[in-house]
Amino acid sequence: MNWPPGFTGAAAFTFDVDAESAILWNAPHNADRMSVISHQAYGPLVGVPRLLGLLERHRIRSTFFVPGYTAERYPQTVRAIAAAGHEICHHGYLHEQPTGLTPAQEIEALDRGLDALRRTAGVTPAGYRAPMWDLSWRTPALLAERGFLYDSSLMDADEPYELRVDSSRSLVEIPIQWSLDDWEQFCYLPDISGSGLIETPAKARELWQAEFDALREAGGCWVMTNHPFLTGRPSRARELGRLMEHVTSHADVWVATLGEIAGHVRGLGLTPRSIVRPEL
Ligand SMILES: [Zn+2]
Repeated sequence: MNWPPGFTGAAAFTFDVDAESAILWNAPHNADRMSVISHQAYGPLVGVPRLLGLLERHRIRSTFFVPGYTAERYPQTVRAIAAAGHEICHHGYLHEQPTGLTPAQEIEALDRGLDALRRTAGVTPAGYRAPMWDLSWRTPALLAERGFLYDSSLMDADEPYELRVDSSRSLVEIPIQWSLDDWEQFCYLPDISGSGLIETPAKARELWQAEFDALREAGGCWVMTNHPFLTGRPSRARELGRLMEHVTSHADVWVATLGEIAGHVRGLGLTPRSIVRPEL
């Protein structure tokens, strides 16, 4: 991969502002659980402001994936993210997993999400990330039809590439991976999510930093995913700050938003490649 002059790799800190949406889609009865709702509300209410301060201190611009429902429930939070100079992107309406939707439902979730971001923050997102990183085989074409530049939900490479949609269209794909997600490390909601094991912030950072160091050597693109309702807690945010310090101390790594990375990759004119659905 040809990175911009002076850089041999790239890194991005990204945040998925799921808030309540992640536990309501497919489980609307969770709305009856006041404590559970408050656990998710911590993200936009406390986590996002803390993380915005952290990003400012480390002079990092980031990408925030915001479900439409979150944008409507917390418009002031979404506007604060945009005002701080960060990128806002699409993450469904009610955090719907595309593989659990009919074609008509998938279209509705995409368009409702677009509409919510436009109305609340005046944003037309360039990027999309599937809730639960669970793209359906039809999602790429729906994104291309709506003018998206990139997706960040697939896991088959160390660096971005052009994903073929059809003979004339492609999307930039910026790969992610489960080991660079805070959900597995920190999420515990009885009866809803998590194993009950909550890792220490230091152990989580060790995992994430090891992958950064190795991907840097490989010339790849390190994409970290954190959720404000999880990593917005004080000790975790403090440890994420240490990780930011480590990442930004490497002058050969381009720390950028996913939109900036996607724009660079699009300019390279790479030949798109396909992912073939298994035939059974
Ligand atoms: Zn999410």
